[in-house]
Amino acid sequence: MKIVVQKFGGTSVATPETRRAAYRHVERALNEGYAVAVVVSAMGRRGDPYATDTLLSLLDSGDGAGHEPDPRDRDLLMSCGEIISAVVFAHELRSRGHRVRVFTGAQAGIVTSDDFGNARILDVRTDGLRAALEAGEIAVVTGFQGCTESGDVTTLGRGGSDTTATALGVALGAEVVDIFTDVSGIMTADPRIVEDARQLRQVTYTEICNMAYQGAKVIHPRAVELAMQGNVPIRVRSTLSDDPGTLVTQAAAHLEHGRVMDRYVTGIAHTPNVTQIRVRGEGIGASSIFRLMAEHRISVDFISVTPSEVAFTVPDALADAAVHHLSQLGYRVETRPGCAKVSAVGAGMMGVPGVMARIVDALAEAGIEILQSADSHTTIWVLVDGSQMEDAVRALHRAFQLSGT
Ligand code: ADP
Ligand code: MG
Repeated sequence: MKIVVQKFGGTSVATPETRRAAYRHVERALNEGYAVAVVVSAMGRRGDPYATDTLLSLLDSGDGAGHEPDPRDRDLLMSCGEIISAVVFAHELRSRGHRVRVFTGAQAGIVTSDDFGNARILDVRTDGLRAALEAGEIAVVTGFQGCTESGDVTTLGRGGSDTTATALGVALGAEVVDIFTDVSGIMTADPRIVEDARQLRQVTYTEICNMAYQGAKVIHPRAVELAMQGNVPIRVRSTLSDDPGTLVTQAAAHLEHGRVMDRYVTGIAHTPNVTQIRVRGEGIGASSIFRLMAEHRISVDFISVTPSEVAFTVPDALADAAVHHLSQLGYRVETRPGCAKVSAVGAGMMGVPGVMARIVDALAEAGIEILQSADSHTTIWVLVDGSQMEDAVRALHRAFQLSGT
């Protein structure tokens, strides 16, 4: 049995028209002789009636407003959007003459930890899914959710449907996992910001994982990691077209336009809404600062430590808490909210001379101040004011000639 997993994101299942486009992809795979496991997200985006954010907002209004929801209940509520979506998808597929079976995360055998809101997949028990596929049924699985050993419903965190899809792809031994979305593939930058962003035809797991960790939200990094571990290829592609999209595999070199390219910058990614925190003073204890942040589960990024200053960033939403805890250590703390991290991401930047110079020049020319910077062998990060984020993304995209025109 050759199996394909096809994941359809929120916009792809939002309306009857987009769903019809999705069914055509399912039917094409069936015609090609594949057994098809579909993974669906909740329908639409914030504001749409059955989107996850809309369901969640029910807890922030009325008499419950301002009161922290129970995490276990919150996950149960958040799991409803995908259930609604899966049932509608299956119902419409049946009306086209197909045999279909719906699976919740639990029914699909996705066993997770009990970290509600951000559960980790511990095991995938695919007997039920397999049986359905072997019986010639299309399996429609709710994305983004799983279930603990004791039967509590959990959710997998942002981008969780991508993770469901690749986890199933690995567990089922799928030939490929198709991530259908509202763009034609992975681009050299978010096409909402860079108009002439170029679509990448083929990339490695590592490259795309790095892009995703730096904020490219087209696919979730955990999903890529899982696929990489199981060595299952991913295709990121558009629901509304037949474009083959972007192929993500292990391959190290890239064949584009018929030639092998060993590119060192794959693309530009961005993460908005972070606060820069600088702690100053003689003899500051960096380790006590980071231990404090860890104790309060505040994730820190962009760390720079010198004898007289410790600087790092936290998500804007956690800045007040971070400052509160730091001030209790008696340190002088300065904050700058509303910053953005812009990253040039590649696979082989190490040792390529002049990369940093190019970045500094490009940003200076665009009148953008670098608040902080850092680099690794695959990525160069700069922190800029949030108001200049889009300009910074465009400036770096230009500087590395990523549009390729
Ligand atoms: P879905 O609901 O299908 O999961 P997402 O909104 O999660 O869709 O992801 C698709 C979006 O990712 C695109 O609309 C695009 O704006 C954004 N995006 C960010 N960076 C990139 C990139 N490098 N390439 C393509 N899309 C990107
Ligand atoms: Mg997504």
